[in-house]
Amino acid sequence: MGKVAVAFAAVAVVAACSVAAVMVDRRMKSRRKWRTVVEILKELEDDCDTPVGRLRQVVDAMAVEMHAGLASEGGSKLKMLLTFVDDLPTGREKGTYYALHLGGTYFRILRVLLGGQRSYLDVQDVERHPIPSHLMNSTSEVLFNFLAFSLERFIEKEENGSNSQGVRRELAFTFSFPVKHTSISSGVLIKWTKGFEISEMVGQDIAECLQGALNRRGLDMHVGALVNDTVGALSLGYYHDPDTVVAVVFGTGSNACYLERTDAIIKCQGLLTTSGSMVVNMEWGNFWSSHLPRTSYDIDLDAESSNANDMGFEKMISGMYLGDIVRRVILRMSQESDIFGPISPVLSEPYILRTNSVSAMHEDDTPELQEVARILKDLGVSDVPVKVRKLVVKICDVVTRRAGRLAAAGIAGILKKIGRDGSGGITSGRSRSEIQMQKRTVVAVEGGLYMNYTMFREYMEEALVEILGEEVSQYVVVKAMEDGSSIGSALLVASLQS
Ligand code: ADP
Ligand code: MG
Repeated sequence: MGKVAVAFAAVAVVAACSVAAVMVDRRMKSRRKWRTVVEILKELEDDCDTPVGRLRQVVDAMAVEMHAGLASEGGSKLKMLLTFVDDLPTGREKGTYYALHLGGTYFRILRVLLGGQRSYLDVQDVERHPIPSHLMNSTSEVLFNFLAFSLERFIEKEENGSNSQGVRRELAFTFSFPVKHTSISSGVLIKWTKGFEISEMVGQDIAECLQGALNRRGLDMHVGALVNDTVGALSLGYYHDPDTVVAVVFGTGSNACYLERTDAIIKCQGLLTTSGSMVVNMEWGNFWSSHLPRTSYDIDLDAESSNANDMGFEKMISGMYLGDIVRRVILRMSQESDIFGPISPVLSEPYILRTNSVSAMHEDDTPELQEVARILKDLGVSDVPVKVRKLVVKICDVVTRRAGRLAAAGIAGILKKIGRDGSGGITSGRSRSEIQMQKRTVVAVEGGLYMNYTMFREYMEEALVEILGEEVSQYVVVKAMEDGSSIGSALLVASLQS
C-alpha cells in the first residue's frame, strides 16, 4: 500500500469512528430525552392518581362541605344556593313554553308543547349556537340585546305569524352561572365563571335584565322562571322519573343540584314549602379539598385564569379546562425534550387545545393514530412518530380518567349526604329506617363533555360502582338527559302555570 493509500485509509477509519461516535452520542441523547419525557409522564400519572381510598376521602369531604354550606352563609366553598324550586314538573303540564339557555359555550332556544300527559312532550326545534366570543366580555346591554334579538328571530321562524290570539309567551331563562335567588323568577348574579367577564352585571337581577331587553324589542314574552342549568336537568329527569333527586352537568363547566329537605337547610330556618323540600344548587365547581389530586399544571392553569383561586373542582373536571391541562403537559415535554421537534409557539396559546380534540385523540382508533397526528399538526407539531402519538393519547387518558373519577366521587358525595350511598350517610336528623332502606335513586346527567366523550363517561360510571360497591350501585341509575337543562326549564316554567 502506498503512503497516500495508507493516509486515506487512516482518514476513512477516523471518519467512520467519529460518525459512529456522533450516532452513539445522538442515540444516547435521544434516549435521555425520551427518558425525560417518560419521567414527566410518570410524574403526571402519580400526581393524578385516584385510588378508591382517595376517592372515598373526596366523597366524605364533599358531604361535609355540603353540610357546612347548608349550615351557614359562607360556611363552605360550596354556596348551596336556594332555588325556590320546591315542586318539580309532574307530567300534567299543558301548553306551549319557551326556554332560552345561556351556557358557557352555547346558547340554545327551544319551544315545547305539552299535552297534559307525561308521554305528550313535543320538543320543537332546538336551536343551538356558539356564543359569539366578544359577548363574554362586552356589556350587559350588548349581551341581553343579542339574546332578545335571537329569541325574536326564533319566534318569527317557529310561529310563522300564528300567535294571533295574542297570548303572552312564557319563557324560562336557563342561566348556567351562580345566582342568589329571591324567588323562582328573580335573582342576582354572584360572579361570572367559565371565562365570562362582564363585571357590571355582578349584583344585577338577571331575569330583569332579560325582561328589559325583551320589552325593548316589543316581544310579548314573560320571563317566568330563572333556572340554573342543573335544575333544568333535574326537572326533565323528574318529569320522566320521580326517583330523580340529583342532577349534574358536565359541559363547559360543571355543577350539581339535588332535592334537599327544607329542615336540613339550617341557614334558612323557618323555610316552608308545600313539598317539605327544595332544590339546592350546590355550585360544586367551587368545591375544594386537600384530598383532590392536584398537579403543577392545575396550579399554573388556575394562576393564569381569569378567576384564580376559584372553581378548583370545575378546573379539574370540566370541558373548558381538560384540553388546557393536556396542552400544558405537551408543552412541558416539548420544552424539556425534542420529541415534538422545534417548540411550536402555538402550544403556548392558552385554551388552543379544546377538549373536543382531546376526546378525538383519545378515541382515535386508526392504526397509525392519524387523528392524533392531524390535531398535533394544528398545534404546529408535525411528523411525530407513532410512539410519540401514543404518548399523547396516554396524556389524554390520564387527565380524563382523573376527571371522570373525581366526578364520580362528587356524585357519591351527594348520595352520601342524602343517605343514598348505602353507608348511612352523615346523620342530619334522618331516621334510621330511612337510612337503612336503600331507595332507587336516579341521577340525571347532561352536558357536552358527558354526552360526547365516551371515555370520560365510562371512567365516571366505573368509578361510581367502585365507590358505592356492586350492591348499592344497583339502586343508583345514571340517566343521560340530552338538552335536559333547556327542556327541563321549559317544563318548570310550565309547572308554575298549572
Ligand atoms: P354549554 O356548556 O355551553 O352549556 P355543552 O353542555 O354542550 O354547552 O358543553 C359544551 C362543552 O362540552 C364544550 O365546550 C366541550 O368542552 C365539551 N364537549 C363537547 N363536545 C365534546 C367532545 N366531543 N369531546 C369532549 N368534550 C366535548
Ligand atoms: Mg350547559
